[in-house]
Amino acid sequence: MKNGNVCVAEVVAALVVSASVGAQNQAVDIQVVPVQGFNTTQVYMLVGAGANITAQIGDDGVLLVDTGTAQTSDKVLAAIRRITDKPIRYIINTHAHPDHVGGNDAILKAIGGQRTSQGGGGGGIENPNGPLVVAHQNTANLMTEPPNNQPAYPDGAIPKDTFITDNKQIYFNGEGIELWWHGQAHTDGDLLVYFRRSDVIAAGDFLFTDTYPVIDVQAEGGLQGLLNGLNRIVTIAIPRFNQIDGTRIIPGHGYLSNQSDIAELRDMATIVRDRIQYMIQKNMTLAQVKAARPTIDFDPVYGTTTGVWTTDKFIETVYADLKKPRQGPLPKSGLNFGEGGQ
Ligand SMILES: [Zn+2]
Repeated sequence: MKNGNVCVAEVVAALVVSASVGAQNQAVDIQVVPVQGFNTTQVYMLVGAGANITAQIGDDGVLLVDTGTAQTSDKVLAAIRRITDKPIRYIINTHAHPDHVGGNDAILKAIGGQRTSQGGGGGGIENPNGPLVVAHQNTANLMTEPPNNQPAYPDGAIPKDTFITDNKQIYFNGEGIELWWHGQAHTDGDLLVYFRRSDVIAAGDFLFTDTYPVIDVQAEGGLQGLLNGLNRIVTIAIPRFNQIDGTRIIPGHGYLSNQSDIAELRDMATIVRDRIQYMIQKNMTLAQVKAARPTIDFDPVYGTTTGVWTTDKFIETVYADLKKPRQGPLPKSGLNFGEGGQ
């Protein structure tokens, strides 16, 4: 019998399926999509490495958000070298899944290892000229001790510049960069990365543009943290006109997005949450909830019956998540624009 939990291996498998589809087609290189910046294009989206990679490039060097799969590192480095010969000075990891951090090891080895924020120690390869590898501490923990007995990452690949607070700020290439952590989201370590002057948000796996939100319960993910992150994007992002242009949002998987894309996804996830929560309050079983089809009007856009992250899995996961005992009260029904639950 199925339960509401989605095994991390299944989630990862789903993510890597899309990566390997690209990898099998050797003719497909890493695509470099110029996004925007100030004065000149500063932020790029690299497509084809499993998950999307964000690269911010300027006089100070290169800052990467995520590194893609282990199999695509050579191509990722080659793609960066097509735009700049500056050194990689920062790698920010949004969360611990292998399609986002799998490239850490090979890329760091290729450039001589990472620097630590303390300037020494921390284990692994120490390279005073290497990049700082930044992540929430929960992400480093999940890479050190992955759930379900999956193999740990090599020590040299694990971020050494970690933090345990809700946010961190970096100034690089002439702009402030904000890192916002939302716990219990896609995993328990997810970061949003906001480039303030370029006006770009790297959303990691808060955002899949073509599927229902993916929640890895084995990595302590949860729907409310995910909604908090989506609400934050909607609050920060400003469209230029007709709901297009303005702030650009780079998803973990899918197409470059505008504020309205995120608002639609947020509204859908909030409505589905409210429906399932109402059904739970009516003491409906999982089978009854599924039979009631709480996602029916959204299925043509986000739903699927094939692959791993099916509509059924999404409903099972949300049902189990909402039934979990919590420390605090759930936010009230209705669209939640605040930061409830944090
Ligand atoms: Zn992920």
